[in-house]
Formats: sequence, C-alpha cells, structure tokens
Amino acid sequence: MVYPKPVEELIDQLRILPAIGPRSAERIALWLLLDRKRNPVSLAEALVECEKQVGFCSQCGFFAEKGEDCSVCNSSRRTSNAICVVEKAPDVIALERSGAFNGKYHCLGGVLSPLDGIHPEDLRIESLIHRVDEMDEGAEVILAIGVHIEGEATSSYLEGVLKDKEVKVTRLARGLPVGANLEFADQLTLTRAFEGRLS
Ligand SMILES: [Zn+2]
Repeated sequence: MVYPKPVEELIDQLRILPAIGPRSAERIALWLLLDRKRNPVSLAEALVECEKQVGFCSQCGFFAEKGEDCSVCNSSRRTSNAICVVEKAPDVIALERSGAFNGKYHCLGGVLSPLDGIHPEDLRIESLIHRVDEMDEGAEVILAIGVHIEGEATSSYLEGVLKDKEVKVTRLARGLPVGANLEFADQLTLTRAFEGRLS
C-alpha cells in the first residue's frame, strides 16, 4: 500500500462499517481527505460524542443520552397502556417510521438462543415483567419479535411468562415474511402486521 499510515488506518476503520467493502472504504477515505469542505473533523467529533454521550434507556433499552431515559419513555403523548416488545433498538426506529404504534417499547437486547448461550437471564426480561406489573388492567403487550426460529421461541417463552398477568398479550402476525428482521421491513408491511396482530 502506498498511502501514509494514518490513511491506511482510516481505510481499515471504514471497512468495519456494514456494507462497505475495501474499494468503497478507500473511496470514502480519499473523498474525506481531498474535499476538506466536507469537514472530516466534524464527522470524527460526532462519532466521539456519540460514543461518550449515547447509552441505553434504563426503562426500555432504546438509545438515549447517558443517564437519561429515551424520548419515547419521556413523551407524555405516548400511552403507557401498551408496550411493544422488540428484539433490539433499531427495531424501534423501524416501527416509529411506520407510525402504527403510539405506546412504549421494550428492547430485549436479543432473542433466546440456547445454542449460542443466550438464555432468559441474558435478555431484558426481568425488567419487562417489572414494567408489565405496573401496567393497568386491560393493558396490552405486543410481541413484535422477528419471525424466525429463535424469535418464535422467544415470543412463546414470553407468552408463557406473561400468561398470568392481567394484560392482553398479542403478536405481530400478518404481513411479516418468515425470516424477516423488523429493522429491514418496509412501512406498509409493518403497518399491516400491526393491524393483523393476534392474541
Ligand atoms: Zn425508553
């Protein structure tokens, strides 16, 4: 490689990004170096600030500024009578884009996968049960977990754990293709899945 060492390092770092191959990483690095108007320092600072300031909401596990709850949990316009349970934080973004839901969320932080050593205690299930216990009678817990083997197992497990609680437990069903991740589903698919949820 003919680049100065810091440029090589920059290319290596860009290659870590999803969907960026070696050629794209090189192109982006050169674009940042050649076009200073793009202000690569601001980009670097934004990354550092995210690393320093962004953590996870203590209530729901979605992204939040460190030490604070997220914008959904803090919003007085969202009903606390419905909690939508998702696998991970980016799923919240996908559902928010659909505009189909006006309640709160709960991010599990993954799905059950005993073969990979992921058991109930490794997910945010205790805190979900705690939140459900605080809900009013007749409230709803919507399981919006991806339709794949581990996702189905996780939904079934949660249905078992929540069956004696005084809440209605529903699942997203119609609309989501088998094997789909919520994060990549389009708006219409998510809206239909919400409308067709089953108890
Ligand atoms: Zn939150």
